[in-house]
Amino acid sequence: MNYNIAVIAGDGIGPEIVREARKVLDAAGAKYGFTLHYTDLLMGGASIDVHGIPLTDETIEAARKSDAVLMGSIGGDAKTSPWYQLPPEKRPEAGLLKIRKSLNLFANVRPAYLYEELKGACPLKDEIIGDGFDMVIMRELTGGLYFGERKTVEENGEKKAIDTLTYSEGEIRRIAKRAFDIARKRRKKVTSVDKANVLDSSRLWRSVVEEVAKDYEDVTLEHMLVDNCAMQLVRDPKQFDVILTENMFGDILSDEASMVTGSIGMLSSASLNETKFGLYEPSHGSAPDIAGKDLANPIATILSAAMMLRYSLDLDEAADAIEAAVKQVLKDGFRTGDIMSEGCTQVGTAKMGDLIAERIR
Ligand code: NAD
Repeated sequence: MNYNIAVIAGDGIGPEIVREARKVLDAAGAKYGFTLHYTDLLMGGASIDVHGIPLTDETIEAARKSDAVLMGSIGGDAKTSPWYQLPPEKRPEAGLLKIRKSLNLFANVRPAYLYEELKGACPLKDEIIGDGFDMVIMRELTGGLYFGERKTVEENGEKKAIDTLTYSEGEIRRIAKRAFDIARKRRKKVTSVDKANVLDSSRLWRSVVEEVAKDYEDVTLEHMLVDNCAMQLVRDPKQFDVILTENMFGDILSDEASMVTGSIGMLSSASLNETKFGLYEPSHGSAPDIAGKDLANPIATILSAAMMLRYSLDLDEAADAIEAAVKQVLKDGFRTGDIMSEGCTQVGTAKMGDLIAERIR
């Protein structure tokens, strides 16, 4: 099988980590009988340098025509980079918001997985961690409070700010379906998080999620209030498989969940639309402080590439192999600087990519 992958290497460590992800993808392709054809696209600072803007219409179209987009990260050092002398709509990050919107990427998927070997980086107590946890936060990305009408008015000599939280049935249904589909490929449990004891939008959320659940009888659904979920994530994270939630709750809970795993260099993410199409990128930024020094941890990008195989290309076996190779490399004691601990062997970005690719072949 052949697939077309749009590649946005981006800025800072982006090109280094994407190079390693491609290395690993190609090793998986050779073993499992598929070929990825890559088209390199510019976005962020790299696009500003060539086109004067962070994202061109041609780039959006090329991305749209591909089977999936693999991204590194974009942006530079806000204090020193000339990109940040530009007005906000021309800065690197504007490209990211625009591509998400243009490609209708409404579902953000962020796994939070605790590796046995990296338990030391987890801030939770041993008795809570147990034999680790493995969950996915599914956050609605293009609706809710962040996209509702907002204004600041003056009433009786006092300023008053208004933000509007709206969700339509359709917006809820499409993300709920995505969450159930993903749960089906995992431990078959969805925890839908809302504030249905207070908010109308949450009550609608709950009823639409229940409706969608009827088509997924093999998946268990539970509802949880957001304040309780914030507590449960640090009290007993093992109970979660897929957490499904709206935009603002997801923004907060996904950061909380990723913090309990301990390392930013390990966290993958995907942004999906209604079809199989998605944009896959690490959760971290472009780390300009370590760019070009062979210091970056490429694992978050490599795991994002594995998600791309699983969710956009249905190559589950190859995705499993990449995830297993990452685990094996950690078990064999290899670490990049950010996850280094005593008794392990420190390696650079390229070597880490080589070691993971070797364990796939
Ligand atoms: P950052 O995630 O780039 O870096 C935070 C810290 O973590 C730094 O010390 C960095 O060296 C380290 N780090 C990050 N990724 C690492 C990796 N793979 N291996 C080892 N260490 C790693 O966040 P920041 O410094 O706040 O932002 C830098 C730039 O990235 C900014 O321009 C910001 O706007 C941009 N950014 C982009 C995205 C994206 O492309 N989606 C996301 C977040 C931030």
